[in-house]
Amino acid sequence: MRKKIVAANWKMNKTLQEAQALVKTILSGSGSNNEVTKIIIPPALFITELARLTKENPSFSIGAQNCYYAESGAFTGELSASAIASCGAKYLIIGHSERRQYFNETADQLKLKINLALKHKLIPIYCVGEKLNERQTNHYFTAVKNQIQEVLFHLPATDIEKIIIAYEPIWAIGTSLTATPEQAQEMHSFIRFAIMENYGADVSKKINILYGGSCNAKNAKELFACADVDGGLIGGASLVADEFLQIINSF
Ligand code: PEP
Repeated sequence: MRKKIVAANWKMNKTLQEAQALVKTILSGSGSNNEVTKIIIPPALFITELARLTKENPSFSIGAQNCYYAESGAFTGELSASAIASCGAKYLIIGHSERRQYFNETADQLKLKINLALKHKLIPIYCVGEKLNERQTNHYFTAVKNQIQEVLFHLPATDIEKIIIAYEPIWAIGTSLTATPEQAQEMHSFIRFAIMENYGADVSKKINILYGGSCNAKNAKELFACADVDGGLIGGASLVADEFLQIINSF
């Protein structure tokens, strides 16, 4: 049985006070639902405080949205994987499409970030997903396979098992256009098959694959019901406590 996971990517939203209030509401609202792993991924400044607030509840963890691809050094303004881990984060988003698009992150850089995350015992949430034109021209399988191959397939099986893959079609992120359950399932099973081809059936059955892209309280249930969808990476809808709590309860 794979874990059920709901991860909240807050992006560049919330002040410290708003972040504290939102996490407190989510903590009290989620009651005894310990079956679902909840990962809150705030702006990195708030990691220490949110790790403190959630430490009594083992079904909650904190993550970071990005790290730099070098271990440490003269890179003003950047954050290292080791610094992120030392503040209490357990997860790290790598390769979000907004970072690939606005910050020109390359596959080589992402590969280094994956290695650093694993070195510092952070679980990578590696984001993949096709652009609208790749979907429309039927190149979406190739696009996603390349993203996985280039950044993950150097890893040994013992490491690939730890990775969470988030399938986030770019045309669905922040657009209110959600992939249908059929589209999500088709891609998730394709990703699992690609892992199987390289690492075998046992590994492919273990790996968690999340769906992201305008997932909300209305559509989460049918997406999470798909055989190869193990939960969601949630952007906009994770900023509102009620909406996020409904998503948590959608399995
Ligand atoms: C995301 O950015 O990871 C995301 C899924 O955003 P949204 O839910 O807002 O589409």
